[in-house]
Amino acid sequence: MTNPPDFTIDLRSDTLTQPTEAMREAMARAEVGDDVYGEDPTVNALETLAAERLGKAAALFVPSGTLGNLISVLVHCGRGDEMILGADAHIFYYEQGGAAAFGGVQPRTLPNEVDGTLDLAHVEAAIREDNDHYPVTRLLALENTHNRCGGRVLGMDYMDAAAELAHARGLRLHVDGARIWNAAVALGVSPARLLAGADSVSACLSKGLSAPVGSVVAGDADFVRRARRLRKALGGGMRQAGVIAAAGIVALEEMVERLADDHANARRLAEGLAALDGVRIASSTVQTNLVYFDLTRPSPDAADFCAALERQGVRMGATSATSVRAVIHRHVSAADVERVLAIVAEALRAAAA
Ligand SMILES: *Cc1c(COP(=O)(O)O)cnc(C)c1O
Repeated sequence: MTNPPDFTIDLRSDTLTQPTEAMREAMARAEVGDDVYGEDPTVNALETLAAERLGKAAALFVPSGTLGNLISVLVHCGRGDEMILGADAHIFYYEQGGAAAFGGVQPRTLPNEVDGTLDLAHVEAAIREDNDHYPVTRLLALENTHNRCGGRVLGMDYMDAAAELAHARGLRLHVDGARIWNAAVALGVSPARLLAGADSVSACLSKGLSAPVGSVVAGDADFVRRARRLRKALGGGMRQAGVIAAAGIVALEEMVERLADDHANARRLAEGLAALDGVRIASSTVQTNLVYFDLTRPSPDAADFCAALERQGVRMGATSATSVRAVIHRHVSAADVERVLAIVAEALRAAAA
């Protein structure tokens, strides 16, 4: 028997990141007011900054990415309208069908390509003609980076082409940009440029950017006015929210560029995993901070494998019977990645023995 390890390297999610010292100081100092009255200067400053970074006329601070997506879809779609999105989209997969439950919006899913995109010929074919039998297609929703497609980045040309198609056919384009900052850093372009054709975006401050709470949605002034009304109706109107918005400002000002370090560590993890017997990973497809890999032997299954890692101080998430997700973030160093690789190698050896 070995003693339990005296460390934990937690790769379950980048949402686990803790606020930085600079965030805690900014939170303590934050000037606040009642944001439902529009009187919190720190929230207003965050919204101005976020709008500028995302290249939109206005932005709104919301408690979570899920609420940001829900509000955005409900601004664009009425009851019985249809939105086109990927079958692996977070909005479709992980948000309890909120748009259908609360807005009566019908999801029309198309298969995601392995790179996270939707084939634009498929999108075009899925857009409804004007016919009394059909719902009205209102929205195309894309995800960038794409979580279930391995943190893949949707490139600028694709984003532009998707927007052009949507607009030519009278649709709006929403981007679930929970990790849009990762996408922009990976591409070396500004989020504003990447989102130039998008009518709305929801972007998380609380993932790799390390803020404790919150997301922003952004769009034109009319979108944000309607989003603000929905936020209140859905219970997301917060009062002295400047206390948390202050951390969001630090996130945008100080925490975006360093995401490149996470991407480098993720690549190193992927390359190390690719060299191990019993693992399948296309390491060249790891573009940002998410690392998905498959176990190639029938035993252990992914859940048992993760349990074995956890006993050695490494936490990952099983995403199917055979696949595992490891997420790199600010609390994972290059040395931690080497330690993880050694522990994974040992767990695979022990399972094979
Ligand atoms: C995390 C995430 C969300 C939701 O954000 P929460 O703040 O957890 O509600 C939405 N979309 C994607 C792609 C995400 O990764």
